[in-house]
Amino acid sequence: MKDFEYFSPKTVEEALSLISQYKGEAKIIAGGQSMLVVMRQGLLSPEYVVDIKGITALDYMTYDEREGLRMGALTTHRAIEKSPIIQKHFKILSEMERNLATIQTRNWGTIGGNLCHGDPAGDPAPVLITLGAKLRLKSLSTERIVPMEGFSKDMLEVDLEPEEMLIEIQIPGPRPHTGVAHEKLMVMQGDAGIVGAAVSITLKPKDGVCEDARTIISNAASVPLRVREAEERLIGRAVNDHWLGEAGEIASAVADPPSDVHASAEYRREMVKVFVKRAAIKALERAKER
Ligand SMILES: Cc1cc2nc3c(=O)[nH]c(=O)nc-3n(C[C@H](O)[C@H](O)[C@H](O)COP(=O)(O)OP(=O)(O)OC[C@H]3O[C@@H](n4cnc5c(N)ncnc54)[C@H](O)[C@@H]3O)c2cc1C
Repeated sequence: MKDFEYFSPKTVEEALSLISQYKGEAKIIAGGQSMLVVMRQGLLSPEYVVDIKGITALDYMTYDEREGLRMGALTTHRAIEKSPIIQKHFKILSEMERNLATIQTRNWGTIGGNLCHGDPAGDPAPVLITLGAKLRLKSLSTERIVPMEGFSKDMLEVDLEPEEMLIEIQIPGPRPHTGVAHEKLMVMQGDAGIVGAAVSITLKPKDGVCEDARTIISNAASVPLRVREAEERLIGRAVNDHWLGEAGEIASAVADPPSDVHASAEYRREMVKVFVKRAAIKALERAKER
């Protein structure tokens, strides 16, 4: 690994000043669970590394009915998995985290680092998109809030300027009559997904017709892919097994998965079919219970 200068700011302002001063040559590190891998592979050789893990002000979680959930970028995967707030209002996040990596990685890796790494196989992004999450991004002179959907631009590329930091993840309160589920194909518990699917279904309480649906697949394109064509197949219908199967078929046709040592593109496409349907069945059951 190439030598670099190391900084360990204790406030957001300090960190933003450093990445502004060394624009383009500085890289933020949080838990380092992904950063160190790409640095060791030689894919990234920053001159300056700004370690934000010591900024305690970025490690928090709050919830209220009006504002919804707010999580600081340094909230660890393990804190999300174990949080009573999450288990009460957003159980799906806790479920998703239980299947993400090992306890060691979840203990140190952060939600902000996961999202900013921009890995299309990442588990949180698809679930956060179904939940309508937004991200608060800040530089020394600007602040903007962007939807999670669209934050990933390409493989390991996100909508973040070199002088910006992710500060907070914002999730609106749970929508009524809505079920959300996340399923991923793993060889072993905690492995990165060969493919994954997050689905939400909202039912009209009067007649049980599908009012809204969101379908996002992971590791099946260069970004977490929202498949609106599959959602359109469900919205306005009394959803049953047949339509959920159709949604899976459509997602599979739209997917553009990679071929690698873990699986061929053809196999991934088949699995998208299975895992979208599987997540959709679970989401529908949950929507009926709410
Ligand atoms: C063994 C192993 C298994 C894994 N399995 C899974 C899995 O099953 N599913 C899954 O989704 N992930 C998995 N991961 C990835 C893991 O979740 C992420 O590596 C971790 O969450 C990244 O967080 P971090 O704090 O370590 O980020 P870092 O590695 O420190 O940073 C990652 C990237 O984000 C940037 N960054 C970090 N924080 C910020 C911020 N606040 N603002 C701007 N940029 C920022 C960094 O500059 C870097 O580019 C696995 C990782 C390992 C090592």
